[in-house]
Amino acid sequence: MLDSTSSTQPVENSVSEHRRGVLDATVTASWLKKLKAKSIHSGGKEDLLETISQVFLDAIFSTDLRMPRDCAVVLCELLESILFESEPCLKAISSLYSEVCKEVCTADDLNIDTEVLLDRATNLMTLTCMRIKGIPPSQDVEYGARDALNRIQWLLQKSLGTTDGDSRSQQPYGDLSLLNTNRVILEAAGDSLLKEILDDGLNLLETSAAILESNGDCALSIKASQWCRFMDEKSRQLAPGDNQEAIKSGQWHCNQSCRETALAAVTSGMPVDQPCNGGIRIFAVPIKAGNDIVGSINIGYGDPPKDENVLGELAQKYGTTKDELVNQSQKYHSRPPFIIEQSKKRLLSAAHLIGEIVERKRSKMEIQKLNSMLKERITELEPAERERLKLADIVEQSNDAIFSVDLEARVMSWNKGAEKIYGYTPEEMVGNSIYKISPKGPDAQTEEIKRLVEEGTPPQMFETMHTRKDGVEIPVALTISCIRDENEETVEVSVISRDITEKKRSEEALKKFSRDLERSNNELKQFAFAAAHDLQEPLRAMSNYSDLLTGRYAAMLDDRAVKYINRIAESSERMQALIQDLLHYSRVDTHGKPFTVVDLEEVFLSSTKNLRIAIEESSAIVIAGKLPKIQADRSQMLLLFQNLISNAIKYRGKDTPEISIDSKIENGLITLNFKDNGIGIEQEHFERIFIIFQRLHTRDEYPGTGMGLAICKRIVDRHGGAIWVDSQVGKGCNFFVQLPQVQTKETTEESSAHEHSAR
Ligand code: ADP
Repeated sequence: MLDSTSSTQPVENSVSEHRRGVLDATVTASWLKKLKAKSIHSGGKEDLLETISQVFLDAIFSTDLRMPRDCAVVLCELLESILFESEPCLKAISSLYSEVCKEVCTADDLNIDTEVLLDRATNLMTLTCMRIKGIPPSQDVEYGARDALNRIQWLLQKSLGTTDGDSRSQQPYGDLSLLNTNRVILEAAGDSLLKEILDDGLNLLETSAAILESNGDCALSIKASQWCRFMDEKSRQLAPGDNQEAIKSGQWHCNQSCRETALAAVTSGMPVDQPCNGGIRIFAVPIKAGNDIVGSINIGYGDPPKDENVLGELAQKYGTTKDELVNQSQKYHSRPPFIIEQSKKRLLSAAHLIGEIVERKRSKMEIQKLNSMLKERITELEPAERERLKLADIVEQSNDAIFSVDLEARVMSWNKGAEKIYGYTPEEMVGNSIYKISPKGPDAQTEEIKRLVEEGTPPQMFETMHTRKDGVEIPVALTISCIRDENEETVEVSVISRDITEKKRSEEALKKFSRDLERSNNELKQFAFAAAHDLQEPLRAMSNYSDLLTGRYAAMLDDRAVKYINRIAESSERMQALIQDLLHYSRVDTHGKPFTVVDLEEVFLSSTKNLRIAIEESSAIVIAGKLPKIQADRSQMLLLFQNLISNAIKYRGKDTPEISIDSKIENGLITLNFKDNGIGIEQEHFERIFIIFQRLHTRDEYPGTGMGLAICKRIVDRHGGAIWVDSQVGKGCNFFVQLPQVQTKETTEESSAHEHSAR
């Protein structure tokens, strides 16, 4: 309750603070001055009241004054100062209030401030009437009156929304937002904005306010003042351990109420208004972001309990004394209902605002995510697109005809190559039937291809005849593949068509060539057969008769005759050697033996044994390194060794012939090196010496048929190998023979086939 001395100051303040109201400033100043002077100096309360009544009624009903807030403020102060001092005054006051109320209630612009006055008036009048009647007021009435006074007092003292919340915001137990694991609201709205919102809520009611995430974690630490702060701290002291343990313990009563109400709002999606453990109420509003509920904003409201029994129970629960709670309860300035309503409305707006912020933040993040996905996709696509363009370019520039055809046999694309091969431009083909290049229309082959395409298994490649624009038929090789849609259905086929006219020509030529070859082979075989049987016989006869002549008729022959007969004998021998070599040559393939494991060291020894006379006569040194075993035809290997060693002896220079044979194995291939120190060969002849009858010397210089190396080559060929020479004139030769160590199945089969046909 206010006394008369303390009442003057707030009146001045509040009037000056509310000068911006509708009341004209000069009018206000003049009647206030009058009023105050009377109130201080007048001894008679009745006079005073009369004056008050007069001034007020004048003011209230003057046309200038549409909102009686300032009048009411002063009136209240004065009434409070005299309330319990003069019963006759009270009568006057009551009637005055009645007048004011009546008039105010009927005013068109009834507003919140006038509601406060009405509220105040009703309470005061009730109390006044009781006092006048001598009835002691009940506690409820007393409290009601006190609350009404408190509210008025609070209204007069406070300038709404300007209280600095920070001074009372920090709870001694620290910052609960540190335990926030959810952080959706906190991160979207940010610490400072949430603080502002909480302070705003707290400024009006001075209770407690909190913003919680959907899991009940504090987005921002709970803010509390006055009664709530006291109760919150008390219950925190009761709860054990650190903040996290305290929350879990269930003994932090205020925190528990706050969380429970918030979670109820989150779960139901509706505002929740329920009593809290601390004796007042909590109003919680769910925060909706889009379709999700991301948390809740709470505010405590209402007057702390006044009932001593209730306070006693609370004191016990919160571990404090009843007196302390009575004291705390009395300290709290009761708030007018409109302020509470106002706070609730503000809370709804705040929830809406936070929800919007969260939603926007989410959308922003979603957009950012989409953006970065888009960027990634673009970066991914860039090389793919470049690749696509490159491929398109390759297709366009290809010399092959590349075109696509839909399932109705309509041409869908036609590249430059197609234009070149068929003579039709893309304009002439795209959209038209493919049978333009196949005028006979679908045949059995086309039908079959169509069927296979429909089954999704087009033929890999096939040959057919197409017709060019100029009517000329060309052979083409077609490669067909299916172009499928996203459902794996074939929608088109792509065709690569290659003009194979040239290929066909060369195939024909090849066929002709192989026919010719076969014929000449047969002729060679016949010749070999003849050489083996028919040609050798007369030669042997010539040789025998020459021998007979030089033997039996020697006495009858003069020197010239003997010389001529010897020439005949030599010629027939040479002829025989030639035929022999030809036979060897032709029989390499036809009379070859199956491949067996052949020890080349043994082959070397046998060959030197066979060449013993030549070696001895020339004093040649013939040596071999370690030689491997290989799969081969032994007799042919022997012939190869003999030919190469005998050539090395034959084509020796002035020095004693030194011949060495070495080998090395690499990747399953054996390379033999027949090295000599003979006359050597000019590089230009390196290849021709392996051709049949090719000789670099006259018979007078070196005897021979020109068949030795040709036979060697044929043997090596049959074994799937190679033979070549490296040499410098005057510095000897290196003949290299490369052979597979193990014969492939085909070579072996081939060799047994030869063997078979030779028998
Ligand atoms: P031929 O020895 O019967 O003349 P070959 O086919 O064995 O026939 O040899 C062809 C030619 O290669 C020979 O005439 C000779 O000029 C040359 N030739 C072969 N082997 C050697 C060698 N080791 N040194 C020099 N020249 C050689």
